[in-house]
Amino acid sequence: MKRAEIIAVGSELLLGEIVNTNASYISEQLSKYGVPVLYHQVVGDNAARMRETFEIARRRSDFVIVTGGLGPTADDVTKTVLSDLLERPIVRDEEAYETIQRFLVSRNRLMNDGDARQADVLSGADVLPNPVGLAPGMWIAGDTTWLLLPGVPREMKALIEATFPKKLSGATLVSESLRFYEIGESALDDAVKDLLDGSNPTVAPYAETGEARLRISARATDEVTARQMIEEVKTEILKRVGSYYFGSDDETIASHLVQSLSRLNRTFAVAESLTGGEVQSMVTSTPGASVVFLGGVVTYSDELKNRYLGVSLDTIEQHSVVSKEVAYEMVDGLSKTTHADYALSFTGEAGPTSNSGRPIGTVYIGVKTPNGIEVIERTYLHQERNIIRMRAAKDGLWALIQRIKKGE
Ligand code: ATP
Repeated sequence: MKRAEIIAVGSELLLGEIVNTNASYISEQLSKYGVPVLYHQVVGDNAARMRETFEIARRRSDFVIVTGGLGPTADDVTKTVLSDLLERPIVRDEEAYETIQRFLVSRNRLMNDGDARQADVLSGADVLPNPVGLAPGMWIAGDTTWLLLPGVPREMKALIEATFPKKLSGATLVSESLRFYEIGESALDDAVKDLLDGSNPTVAPYAETGEARLRISARATDEVTARQMIEEVKTEILKRVGSYYFGSDDETIASHLVQSLSRLNRTFAVAESLTGGEVQSMVTSTPGASVVFLGGVVTYSDELKNRYLGVSLDTIEQHSVVSKEVAYEMVDGLSKTTHADYALSFTGEAGPTSNSGRPIGTVYIGVKTPNGIEVIERTYLHQERNIIRMRAAKDGLWALIQRIKKGE
């Protein structure tokens, strides 16, 4: 299969009442089998427009997957439209009919026309029994191969799981996303520019809040070979920009820090003001965090900074709450009460108005290592409140990672 196309049927999709999650799931599954998906279409429950959609797909694709419109109601017309187009009459599938009958008997219901229609299939189709519902799927092989699936996501998934391993063999597509921090997207692109033109493996750049990613995808006959191909490109990339790399796929800056601390058998705590618990949430989302993370506090008001962390009210008055001095006293106070080997503190102006008189986007991060305390200043100018908070959180975790790397 070289050119796959997915057609989702249902007026609810066009009205925006439901999101076309079926198409994204099927695309993802097809990519695992190395089948490229070139088009997605969505069409309502209208026979004329559906026929047009199917005709377009037949002209340009050799594998068309249709979801939805196989149900019992009158607006479920997928089968009749395709039956006309392919000139394959509709026939009743006895096995599907019996399954429906057994189901209805168990519910003390009589079969009506709609129920029975769910057992109708296109002649010559390979009928795919539905393990979790009534309407079976259909595989119709030909110049263009058609796969008809129910719209209900649970049923669609069950049929794909039962069908793809049997029907689609051959190439496997494997991907790995390398994640980087502190290096800007364009600097990363420049560093690996020559690798972005490759066709197998491919290397594609992506960016998200403060982070940059390179996705390496390799196509091969089996997964082991594909992984080896990825490894070669990965080694080359890490040779060039390895100092900014913190992990692959689902790994995060926080999980990287947790792993580093676990290896060293060291502990860690956090005191947060502007990040409001964001840092502790990032850390505790990581499995295994409990081994190294002692805990922390969110002290938003001056009073709690004083009461829980021992920040002097004089210091706050003299230097303002967003200051190097307050960040210092926050991390110092936390380390003394928790006895953590490493600690971080965060205070800053996230906006929209400045309470301290400092420009919005000014952040102070206290970083405590066994070597002592350092306060770093960051300014994220012209950024939205939540971006400032996220960047500060990640910058703090990253600062700690860098110091641990240097052996502090
Ligand atoms: P059934 O045989 O159970 O009636 P069907 O094949 O007729 O299923 P539809 O009636 O089109 O399927 O859809 C059933 C339900 O499945 C929809 O109401 C919707 O909740 C969900 N659904 C349908 N298509 C999609 C889609 N593309 N993405 C996500 N959900 C979908």
